[in-house]
Amino acid sequence: MPHFAGVVRKCAKARPALGLGTIAPLARRVFRGYDCLRIRPIWYFAQTRFTHQTTLPPDLYTVEIPRGTPAAARICYGGQSLNTKFDAIVIGTGQAGPFLTSKLAASGLKVAIIERNLFGGTCVNTGCIPTKAMVASAYAAYTVRRSAEFGIAGVPDVRMDMKRVKARKDAISAQSRDGLEGWLRGMENCTVLQGHARFESPRELSISDQRISADRIFINVGGRALVPPLPGLDQVPYLTNSTMMDVDYLPPHLLIVGGSYIGLEFGQMFRRFGSKVTILEKGSRLVQHEDEDVSAAIQDFLQAEGIEIRLNAKCLGFARRGDRIAATVECADGAPELAGSHLLLAVGRRPNTDDLGLDKAGVQVDQRGYIQVDDQLRTNVEGIWALGDCNGKGAFTHTSYNDAEIVAANLVDNDPRRLSDRILAYALYTDPPLGRAGMSEAEVRKTGRPALIGKRPMTRVGRAVEKSETYGFMKVLVDAETRAVLGAAILGTGGDEVIHSLLDVMYAKAPYTVIQRAVHIHPTVSELVPTMLGELKPLE
Ligand SMILES: Cc1cc2nc3c(=O)[nH]c(=O)nc-3n(C[C@H](O)[C@H](O)[C@H](O)COP(=O)(O)OP(=O)(O)OC[C@H]3O[C@@H](n4cnc5c(N)ncnc54)[C@H](O)[C@@H]3O)c2cc1C
Repeated sequence: MPHFAGVVRKCAKARPALGLGTIAPLARRVFRGYDCLRIRPIWYFAQTRFTHQTTLPPDLYTVEIPRGTPAAARICYGGQSLNTKFDAIVIGTGQAGPFLTSKLAASGLKVAIIERNLFGGTCVNTGCIPTKAMVASAYAAYTVRRSAEFGIAGVPDVRMDMKRVKARKDAISAQSRDGLEGWLRGMENCTVLQGHARFESPRELSISDQRISADRIFINVGGRALVPPLPGLDQVPYLTNSTMMDVDYLPPHLLIVGGSYIGLEFGQMFRRFGSKVTILEKGSRLVQHEDEDVSAAIQDFLQAEGIEIRLNAKCLGFARRGDRIAATVECADGAPELAGSHLLLAVGRRPNTDDLGLDKAGVQVDQRGYIQVDDQLRTNVEGIWALGDCNGKGAFTHTSYNDAEIVAANLVDNDPRRLSDRILAYALYTDPPLGRAGMSEAEVRKTGRPALIGKRPMTRVGRAVEKSETYGFMKVLVDAETRAVLGAAILGTGGDEVIHSLLDVMYAKAPYTVIQRAVHIHPTVSELVPTMLGELKPLE
């Protein structure tokens, strides 16, 4: 249990009879002049969500009261008077923080976890979960539009109810967020604090006016949308992946800057919702770090749905044209200026490390602000670790979670797991999706090693044909000498799932022949993976 120390000059008492709805606005008015607010634990148990009331002034909601606090002891919420020592502090409730907290707390350590915004971080609130919920709405709309093709007659024109799309997405996010918050708040040995954490020294953090300290501090602060200094951007309204979450209307014409994962997912979904969509990409192809055949196939199916793609948009600038937003582009072909109703910036992410006081702790970052870590996620400062997107070693939910597994294994389970054991794997959630594992063909070529390649178009995958979803292909690369699978790309229906059969063989360090001889279920996309592996050719 945290020990609250310090001087409390003036303290108010909350009446147990007051309900939550009463106490929040009341607290703002009535308790402003007090250093803290005393609440009897029995009242607290009945009102466990009190500390989540963001309507309260910060000095009244930043401290969590642990369960099991003796009823005799009056609890104090408050600002300057608090000075708390923990065994460990976790900053951020993204994908690494909560799991790590649970492991540390279960081992008996007294842990504080701090969140400045919404529980669950990017994935839960503005990333994977809400976008995949919206992708599902877009897929449903697309399928209904194709209903005649599947023999369904009499389906009227599809019109989106964007408020309903948003409400469904919000409910799915909220379920995840609330579940996480409830889990953390009910966790033994865990204290939840709300506010912006900043280092004051290598062992001490400030949150508003509070100071807390620990000998072990774990940074899981994630990242946010990068807003590049493009000419004219300050003259026009723009959206990011976060503000897109508030969109409950159909933008007539959505201009998207950035032809990579975030831009393509939003682009396809809004096209399917009914918007006109133009994607502006400064490179010569979409998703540039994928192989050229992957980029070309994605461009094909997006254009087939009516998405306009402007590549080589090297000289982007923006201006207002009445109620429209004009984008100037220096393209190899086509008109030099485009106008749309809305603008989405999807040009990458930056780590939330610029407002963390890392200099006061002496923690090193690279040129782009990513915290530098070793193979066990330790920073250069003893007792400080960095996990998830903020360390630049991964940009995905599963990589952040895996960071927490590695740190917990090393600290709690005496199991020396390492970052370098991780195999790169991710998906792009266009329809069809791209599942990726290990090296691309271009990367294998660069190594110069003798390799084998197998490739099969989705038009030759029975399950894809039956579903009338034949865009894409699957591709695998194998070391010609060791027979190890080096990498794979499954761009096609179910590609985000099918990739795991190859990924697991890679983790097992088994030769490709193991999966080539496996008997897969018919009819599935996966059943063609052994077939593809039986048709390998030298990579020339
Ligand atoms: C549109 C979009 C779609 C995505 N889709 C996918 C996908 O399909 N699959 C996938 O694997 N990944 C996806 N990602 C990436 C994924 O969301 C992130 O990689 C993942 O959420 C990173 O988790 P994290 O734990 O590193 O940080 P985050 O989830 O960003 O959490 C960091 C937390 O720290 C808090 N915080 C920051 N600074 C402070 C501070 N100073 N004090 C207190 N709290 C602080 C933040 O409020 C936040 O809650 C997507 C991202 C976006 C933007």
